[in-house]
Amino acid sequence: MPTALRREAIIRAALEDELLDEAMPLVGMVDRDELHARVRELQEAFEGRSPMQHMVATKAATLVPLLAELIDRGIGCEVASPGELAMARAAGAPVDRMIFDSPAKTTADLRDCLDRGIPLNIDGFQELERVDALIAEGRIPTRAGFRINPQRGAGSIDAMSTATPTSKFGVGIRDEGARERLIQAYVDRPWMRHLHVHSGSQGVSLAQMALGIRDMVEIADEIDRRCGQARITHLDIGGGLPVNFDGDETAPTFREYREVLEQTVPGLLDGRRMIITEFGRALLAKAGFILTRVEYTKQTGGRRIAIAHAGAQIATRTVFVPEAWPVRVAVHGRNGSVKQGPRVEQDVAGPCCFAGDMLARGRELPVIEQGDLLAALDTGAYYFSTHYAYNALPRCAVYFAEGDDDSIRFSPIRRAETLEEQLAAAGADLR
Ligand SMILES: *Cc1c(COP(=O)(O)O)cnc(C)c1O
Repeated sequence: MPTALRREAIIRAALEDELLDEAMPLVGMVDRDELHARVRELQEAFEGRSPMQHMVATKAATLVPLLAELIDRGIGCEVASPGELAMARAAGAPVDRMIFDSPAKTTADLRDCLDRGIPLNIDGFQELERVDALIAEGRIPTRAGFRINPQRGAGSIDAMSTATPTSKFGVGIRDEGARERLIQAYVDRPWMRHLHVHSGSQGVSLAQMALGIRDMVEIADEIDRRCGQARITHLDIGGGLPVNFDGDETAPTFREYREVLEQTVPGLLDGRRMIITEFGRALLAKAGFILTRVEYTKQTGGRRIAIAHAGAQIATRTVFVPEAWPVRVAVHGRNGSVKQGPRVEQDVAGPCCFAGDMLARGRELPVIEQGDLLAALDTGAYYFSTHYAYNALPRCAVYFAEGDDDSIRFSPIRRAETLEEQLAAAGADLR
């Protein structure tokens, strides 16, 4: 985790290298050393009898050089749209280290996966019929299997709960007749060789996630019995490990998750099947932060407000659902050093033209002044990679930072979006 000292070193070096300028006082930072440490933690936590294929949920980091960095370290890509698939391919993901999700795959998506040999997580019976039809036309099946919904109830964030009785994802295994129908589908199709569950994300307890995975293992064992062979060769346990947004420490850790899995689902990591994971937030959040410059401060109606450049365009969930997605904000002076002094209650606003565009409210922080720098912490997943084009604010540049604290180097992950690119996205070329 980039601690306060590490962050200070990165921010000072970013100022020296003039990464924040007048035109673009907002950047995304990914600590490359920290990213490597997270990958090692994940890989080591799951070492044991079962072969593992760790994937990253591409939606958490739609940044090709970042994906490439992960792929170089043996990570694969879970993709859920033609765009994500193209990014994973551009980053060099081998076919057998990708898996295609999405509850809304078109026939063209399915055909593309079969033609390329990309494994499929099938979301429902209608989708299975389309795959059947493509195979009947002569296409070679890829490794595929159903996403199941264990229907075990919601976590603390409704919009992020994928395993409720009525979730839109997967085959609900507790619905009347669904389990038998699902098992029969495997018995009838020798190419169906895996199962998938993703009880996530954020706000779902480890115990709850583990119970969903136990449901999946029970079904896998039953399919094997009914097929009279070890038919299910892969189990995809999804992602969804929650992230601690309250402090620098990682909690829970991948290792703790593994321990819960060992206890709750003894048949999972016993070496019989390859285990696939698809972490997004837990792998990336703590490796990145948003850095922005304070443009103005004001007091209105007794309220102290700092106006900076990180709002809904980069912290969309935090702005629209602040109770579920609060982020910590660290205040640095204009020279980059951590700001000291008495703390007073302040709000941090973004640049968008609506009143609710707030990065943080009512925080006790050192007094923020014009020209200070603010870091929004633990934002390495879903924030700068998931831009929202409100007010035609451009995508910001994103950098890798690496090296010892006294010799930090930067390399670009993404350029800032140019005015020409924004105009093209606005249809200016059609006029
Ligand atoms: C979003 C998603 C993930 C990653 O979730 P995190 O909470 O970021 O770990 C994994 N698998 C699927 C199918 C997803 O939709």
